[in-house]
Amino acid sequence: MAFRTIIEPFRIQSVAPLRMTAPEQRRSAIEAAGYNLFGLHSDDVMIDLLTDSGTGAMSRDQWAAIQHGDESYAGSPSFEIFRDAVQGLFPFKHVIPTHQGRAAEKIIFTVLGGKGRTIPSNTHFDTTRANIEYTGAEAVDLVIAEGRDPANLHPFKGNMDVAALDAFLDRNAGRVPVVFVTITNNSGGGQPVSLANLRATHAVCRKHGVPLFLAACRFAENAWFIREREPGQHDRAVADIVRDMAALADGMTMSAKKDPMGNIGGWLALNDDALAEQCRNLLILTEGFPTYGGLAGRDLEALAQGLKEVVDHDYLRYRIRSTAYLGEALARSGIPVVQPIGGHAVYLDARALLPQIAPLQYPGQALAVALYEVGGVRGCEIGTVMFGRHPDGSEQPAALDLVRLAIPRRTYTQSHIDYVIEVCQEVAAAAGTLRGYRIVAEPRQLRHFTARFAPLA
Ligand SMILES: *Cc1c(COP(=O)(O)O)cnc(C)c1O
Repeated sequence: MAFRTIIEPFRIQSVAPLRMTAPEQRRSAIEAAGYNLFGLHSDDVMIDLLTDSGTGAMSRDQWAAIQHGDESYAGSPSFEIFRDAVQGLFPFKHVIPTHQGRAAEKIIFTVLGGKGRTIPSNTHFDTTRANIEYTGAEAVDLVIAEGRDPANLHPFKGNMDVAALDAFLDRNAGRVPVVFVTITNNSGGGQPVSLANLRATHAVCRKHGVPLFLAACRFAENAWFIREREPGQHDRAVADIVRDMAALADGMTMSAKKDPMGNIGGWLALNDDALAEQCRNLLILTEGFPTYGGLAGRDLEALAQGLKEVVDHDYLRYRIRSTAYLGEALARSGIPVVQPIGGHAVYLDARALLPQIAPLQYPGQALAVALYEVGGVRGCEIGTVMFGRHPDGSEQPAALDLVRLAIPRRTYTQSHIDYVIEVCQEVAAAAGTLRGYRIVAEPRQLRHFTARFAPLA
């Protein structure tokens, strides 16, 4: 490449205003929200990096596909267009649309979960873990040791610890209904899983007669990392790598709000006829008829088009490179970030940046609030607030206290990101003055969404 600048491989055709706010406005807004960034009005946020889920910009061709949507209750051709697009990448026999990823999780774990069962993964995402635990089953994380070390430069830090999985399946024979692999590993820093590791995981699952499912939300980003980093993969089409990943699994859950470029949507796909039948029955109970699930025909059409766009190499090169651009700039300024930089987000290591704040005083929350107060940048704590409360009521520090700056797809330009870099630098320069928080109210599950906090004196 002759030029260093990675230009966005699109031009802007439709825009939304971004409201400028002042620090004093933001301080009162976050106080009113109980210092929970999920409680803010989004008009009070300038650069919203809370999540990359459903926040991306749809393309001209996706909006055109919306017009093509057929809203028939049963047998809509929009379903066939959607199903064919899914099966083009993930050739599972049954494709079951849901309104988002957690609805697919709710259905599969209602069937496969329950008391006495245990479900391992490289790392379960928060909604996955919550849906498993809600059934009385146990959720276990078996990522490789390198994946737990924020500074380690392993190229595939999302990999399953295959030896640990083998031993786990031995120890828990008859209690494991399914093994999950999350690609990319969201809670572990957006880190990819290699094809070789998926093959080894597949072999161990076969040996024990346990099905393997992908939590495939960021499959295209994962495949791009495989293409970039795994020996022998560099000349391959991303779509072919995706089909290789799918061929190693028996099914998948999906949030279409991630790589399929949707603002809403998800699906469950699998090969087993009897299991699919049970899942469809639950689908009808809670989501809708199997040819629309929880979605409108127009949504199904937009997702089918998004699936074509997300495996485009120009898009993925820009996507992964622009995330790294943010992460590398922060690292150069001495801000501790999870390395290597993940696909959809940069994860700040709040525990390392704020050593004066004990994990149970929520350093990630303190950093996330400071980024908002100083610059109107909204990130998301991924740490002890999100994972510290256990089903038995106890509270323990999470493995890591991170703040995730998730990049919505095709939404912000490089100058927006340059501003975010400046805000992070300003907060880091005053890191020693930040104080922790205590929780004043929290719900029983998924407390990070609605808990209220108070700053410690
Ligand atoms: C987003 C996400 C989910 C949940 O999907 P929703 O569409 O938000 O319900 C599950 N697993 C992973 C890895 C995710 O990133």
